[in-house]
Amino acid sequence: MLILKLGGSVVTHKDKYMSAHTGNIQRLAMEIAEADTYPIVIVHGGGSFGHPVAKKHGIADGLVDKSQFFGFSETHQAMVKLNQVIVDLLLKAGVPAFAISPSSMIRTDSKRLNELDIGLIKGFIELGLVPVLYGDAVLDSQQTFAILSGDQLIAKLSNNLGADRVIFGSDVDGIFTDNPKLSPDAMLIETVSISSHEANVGATTHTDVTGGMLGKLSEATEAVRGGADVLMVNAFVPGRVRSALRGEKVIGTVLTL
Ligand code: ADP
Repeated sequence: MLILKLGGSVVTHKDKYMSAHTGNIQRLAMEIAEADTYPIVIVHGGGSFGHPVAKKHGIADGLVDKSQFFGFSETHQAMVKLNQVIVDLLLKAGVPAFAISPSSMIRTDSKRLNELDIGLIKGFIELGLVPVLYGDAVLDSQQTFAILSGDQLIAKLSNNLGADRVIFGSDVDGIFTDNPKLSPDAMLIETVSISSHEANVGATTHTDVTGGMLGKLSEATEAVRGGADVLMVNAFVPGRVRSALRGEKVIGTVLTL
């Protein structure tokens, strides 16, 4: 059982509002088809689709004013649009993808995902289909609504499906000693050992991990604890995701217990 995350940085032009990176998506769809590694579940991020809309309407921190209902729905719509582009291109490449909307089956509790209808997802997998989920605007039992990140979803799916391998595809080679986009001297860390005690992730890895990578690392830690091998790779480099799916050795960061 494989789980592949396609980061928002990979499937969208992050600095261009609601712009799908169709070139990357097409190439990655081909790589997934060529790898021919099933069963697999795909989760993608929001990039320039979900994030700016959710931010504009303050969706992540829940209900303050009923006028947010429009923004709540628009955030979901933005993700549906991106998901549609991705699933269409996967189908075209020969991957039997099936779109599953997280907000239709998931409710968070104070931003955390507790319950998940895993039987439903297993049903699609057993048919030989490839479920494609995404970070979404969801109902929350404490704050009315919230944003469920693709990375949080990955950890939960991994643990509930008993994934063997989880691959995070992003726009950097893996986890560095510092943000590689800001520090040219940052060095790639090939193996990150997760302490068995819940500790500060940054301290555990002796790195300065910030922003999206910090959340990703903390969710990935959950998947490692659940028994999956977790690998972070650069999905912009042609062939890297395909090799990673096949279990070949690639440049990246491996997370271990
Ligand atoms: P995605 O959209 O692909 O899920 P994010 O943009 O949320 O990914 O997070 C990846 C980004 O995290 C990288 O582009 C990088 O700028 C940033 N980052 C911060 N600290 C680190 C670090 N120590 N190592 C790698 N990336 C880091």
